[in-house]
Amino acid sequence: MRGRTPTSAPATAGEIFRLVRDGVAGTRTEIGRETGLSRTAVAARVDRLLADGLVTEVVGAAATGGRPAARLEFNAAGGTVLALSVGVSRSKAAVCDLSGAVLAEEVVDIPASAGPEHLLSEAVIRLEKLLLTAGVDDATIRGIGLSIPGTVDGARGWSVGVPALPGWERIALPPLLTARFPAPVLVDNDVNVMALAEHDAHPDVDDLLMVKIGSGVGAGLVCGGVLQRGAWGAAGEIGHTPVHDGPGIGCGCGNIDCLEVLASGRALVRDLAECGQPVTAIADVVALVKQGDPDAVRLVRIAGRRLGEVLAAAVNLVNPALVAIGGDLVGAFDPLVAGVREAIYRRSMAAATQNLRIEPGLLSGRSGVMGCAILVLDEVLSPGSVDAALSA
Ligand SMILES: [Zn+2]
Repeated sequence: MRGRTPTSAPATAGEIFRLVRDGVAGTRTEIGRETGLSRTAVAARVDRLLADGLVTEVVGAAATGGRPAARLEFNAAGGTVLALSVGVSRSKAAVCDLSGAVLAEEVVDIPASAGPEHLLSEAVIRLEKLLLTAGVDDATIRGIGLSIPGTVDGARGWSVGVPALPGWERIALPPLLTARFPAPVLVDNDVNVMALAEHDAHPDVDDLLMVKIGSGVGAGLVCGGVLQRGAWGAAGEIGHTPVHDGPGIGCGCGNIDCLEVLASGRALVRDLAECGQPVTAIADVVALVKQGDPDAVRLVRIAGRRLGEVLAAAVNLVNPALVAIGGDLVGAFDPLVAGVREAIYRRSMAAATQNLRIEPGLLSGRSGVMGCAILVLDEVLSPGSVDAALSA
């Protein structure tokens, strides 16, 4: 939001921080011009931001030969956030700076079926180690972002209706982390945070559909630059949409021929094993595709077509500029996207597809933790949260 109306309340330190972080104002003079505050008021607020480490002062060369003007810059090193992206078969923990850049990260090789208490207590131990690796201490932590593969009640910080995660239903997750790291915790769906990360990596794209195809299938939607969670946090749950002309396989949700039982990585492992291939994991499917195995290429293409069938309806509905594909199966991108394109171009309106980009996500395996970092940074670096932290 640029500038202020004359009737609004005086700008707070948190609002000044936003002007600096967004690059709208870089000097005290510019801040005064944007906010209408006196020089003394600007100086007092900037001093608090400098003391807190959220901004730094850089003395550059003077443009007109006079006294060099001190420029204020957002200080990405002025704190850290912890990120934990929980997956069905493995999770990832990371320590990130205030720009969302990963300082240290590690895979937590424990399946989510071990339960939230066990998995999160192990994650806490890994995060302690990662803080040491990154050379930062607990005092720098400003928040924690957590993602899980299921529908999330963000206000309560727990999952609702997650067939893939038995034992995680309605368990308050933040206390399992704040017992060791007392900081604000934000919880969201895994594909939602991937959508946040890919949106951040594509600043030119305001309407994008993030699709994750791994053990399950899900989507995250950014419309008009804003992540859409829907009324109950279930937006983008495409995995349980039944597809037509399937073989009649029952799904855990009670439906038949859901996208997830026909076109997920897990489904491909099952189908390739039935063809007599020695596969036990999604990585094996990807390896076979890369070797050009005809069964693997054919089945992945069919899975892509089924995914495209469901995405075509979404493309007609929301008209994204970009469909970004991530998840473990993205390694088999070529046959997968060939199937997706085939179905989308056949089933979506030309007006919605003529400039549609369908691409692998830019962040590959990192979009989960980076998205968790962005989720929590958007909150803890907001003007209100900065003001609350400064007055604490
Ligand atoms: Zn289902």
